Amino acid sequence: MTVGIDPVLSAPRPQFTTDDAVGIAAATFGATAAIARNLGSERDQAFLLVDDHGEAVAVMKVSNPAESTAMLDMEALVAAHIAGVDPELPVARPWSAPGAETAGPERYRVLAEGCWVRMYDVIPGRGRSDPLTFGDDVLTAWGCTTARLSRATRGFFHHAAGRVMPWDVQHALSVRPMVPCIADHGWRTTVTATLDRYETVVAPAWSALRAQIVHGDLSTDNALVDDDGRVTGIVDFGDMSHSASIIDLVAALDSLGTGRAGRELLRVGRLIIDGYQRVLVLEPAELSILGELWAARAAIGVAISSWRVEQGLEDAAFAERYNPTAMEMVETLQSVGWQLDPPRRPGHGTLAMRRETAFGPGLEALSYDEPIEVVSARGVWLTAADGRRYLDMYNNVPCVGHAHPRVSEAIARQVRVLNTNVRYLDRSAIELAERLADRCPAGLDTVVFVNSGSEANDLAWRMACATTGRTGGLCTSFAYHGVTDAIAAFSPETWPVGYAPDHIERWTPPDALRSINLGPHGFASAIDRLSSDERGRDRRPVRGHGLAAVMLDGVLQSDGVLDLTAGYVHDLVERTREVGGLWIADEVQGGHGRTGLGLWSFERFGIIPDFITLGKPMGNGHPVAAVITRRSIAAAFGAAQGTFFSTFGGNQVSVAAASAVLDVLDDENVIERTAIVGHQLREALRWLTIDDDWVGDVRGVGLANAVEVVTDRTTNTPDPRRAAAFKNALRRHGVLVGTAGPLGNVLKIRPPLAFRSNHVAPFADGWDAARSSLLASRRPATT
Ligand code: PMP
Repeated sequence: MTVGIDPVLSAPRPQFTTDDAVGIAAATFGATAAIARNLGSERDQAFLLVDDHGEAVAVMKVSNPAESTAMLDMEALVAAHIAGVDPELPVARPWSAPGAETAGPERYRVLAEGCWVRMYDVIPGRGRSDPLTFGDDVLTAWGCTTARLSRATRGFFHHAAGRVMPWDVQHALSVRPMVPCIADHGWRTTVTATLDRYETVVAPAWSALRAQIVHGDLSTDNALVDDDGRVTGIVDFGDMSHSASIIDLVAALDSLGTGRAGRELLRVGRLIIDGYQRVLVLEPAELSILGELWAARAAIGVAISSWRVEQGLEDAAFAERYNPTAMEMVETLQSVGWQLDPPRRPGHGTLAMRRETAFGPGLEALSYDEPIEVVSARGVWLTAADGRRYLDMYNNVPCVGHAHPRVSEAIARQVRVLNTNVRYLDRSAIELAERLADRCPAGLDTVVFVNSGSEANDLAWRMACATTGRTGGLCTSFAYHGVTDAIAAFSPETWPVGYAPDHIERWTPPDALRSINLGPHGFASAIDRLSSDERGRDRRPVRGHGLAAVMLDGVLQSDGVLDLTAGYVHDLVERTREVGGLWIADEVQGGHGRTGLGLWSFERFGIIPDFITLGKPMGNGHPVAAVITRRSIAAAFGAAQGTFFSTFGGNQVSVAAASAVLDVLDDENVIERTAIVGHQLREALRWLTIDDDWVGDVRGVGLANAVEVVTDRTTNTPDPRRAAAFKNALRRHGVLVGTAGPLGNVLKIRPPLAFRSNHVAPFADGWDAARSSLLASRRPATT
């Protein structure tokens, strides 16, 4: 059979004796050896030269006559390159021939009896080690070494690396003609199935893989190890080629998997990959085909060795020694669908049912009549498991856009380096605190990092109580400020029927559409009730809590995204302060540029809060939150309640996310853009709803917007059913919004701040389509 591959594969290797070798060593490199030991090699010959005292002097390689000089030169040059990149990486250095007259790579080789001879330094260590004796940490260390080798060679170039090597998994399909040489029928089937899988899955993905010149065969045959099995020397660069960067990892997996199968093989594989990723991070595309590559590498070995034996080039016992274990590896990989991940518990029932079982009934219901399983997102677009894309007009958490590369990279980079807490000196957390304080009005200079908006409000509330000595709080009638026990009391949106904590008073924000609560009476009487020790005119019992703080979401999301005017907030805060209370500006919704008028939503009111609480958008989806307050308040809290510490508050990864968000807000001029695009969005909405009697109002600020759904424009009676129906119709037409307000009739339109002018059109298209579909379904049937 003829197979069109590298002639080195089929050319017989040189046949020098050990005595010949001693003579050649002296004649070529002037190396004096008493004896030579044959180290065994597939295509060339390698000898260990030993002197009179039994000391190893050098390793001499005698090349296959079919090997090109370019290949030999490439091997010599890569050793020098690696020494420059990673001097600690144990790679054998080639000797220069005595009296060589060139500085080029030819100085590393001398011709003897038709074969090129090269001489290398001896590296301590054992060869041909058994990977079954390696402990887990050694396997991981092998992974590290493999990655260091790939890293050290990735900047290297040599034209000879373009050769076609059948061991290079890149050319896996070139071994197909060798498959009939595999004697065992079952093995032939398995190898064929592996190559088929390669052809359908790997081959189409190949050209997008990261590529470089790779060693190509980092195996226990080509590495020396210490007593534990750690690599002390990488000795054979004879398989180098330009291939996918992960090929060295694939070779290591193949070699170290020898003798293992089933779950143990996969576990060992994962340990090696972990080690590799300590140095080099694999790309998703690489990880996704690693199982196929590993199997292909093992299958290639079986095919080539069977072919070489059939050709009479090799003794079967030697050439095919790895084949049984290679086939076991392939079968394991095949049995798990080529996936290396540990098996997951199989779930029963639909995902929605499993959610209910796993999370319990207390969790808020899924969004939309037909819930969406989201699998990825970018910018303002969410992608569902069925591949459908949705324009996200709802999620304010990914403030600079889903999966913003700056934030994602900041998180990923930091989590690979360090993630601890603020009990250690940490520059990044301190710098972020300083930076936030710089972006706040003078006096708000003390920053405490926590992990959620709820925690931030909880801590602010504790501080307010400690500072004022009071226990009463004020919030809007349908506010939401968080989940903790204390803050649930500030969250009437979630109160069960009949629940009304004694220390909390509520006020109803102004509703311009219906011209109600426009004056200060809403909060004034509530403050009076809280701050009075007397029986009030409404005959409530004596309470005497006193007003510790008013908590206010600057964009009134839960209350129905109502407009707040500066004058109104001014009156509220003035009255609060008159009775000795403090103002907690909850910026969890309105902060980080949402209004387009400043970093914080309170800025447009022109009054300075006592607390600013941050959450949701702060880490673009990564949990991080903060309380910013005055030093005097933090001191009063400390004096009354001792020190404060949150394990995760201010950890380096959260800080990296939060810092990156601030960077992007600045670099992309997000605040300015939000003002402009918010205006465009409202204009579009007004235009889209101009003839719709069911739309009572389009309002908002920046990208915190709302459409009020009513029965008609004359009475403006809230119509929550139609709001819900329209929200679900929008979802069917690829646009995601939410509902809000005490009656749920307000469509909440609050996209990531990555929303741009060019997203207005797809939004309008979705809106139009949803509107038409609802109108069609409401039209009376005609006969
Ligand atoms: N404050 C406001 C205004 C909020 O909207 C929310 C969350 N929706 C919170 C606080 C609580 O934040 P978290 O869910 O991060 O605890």
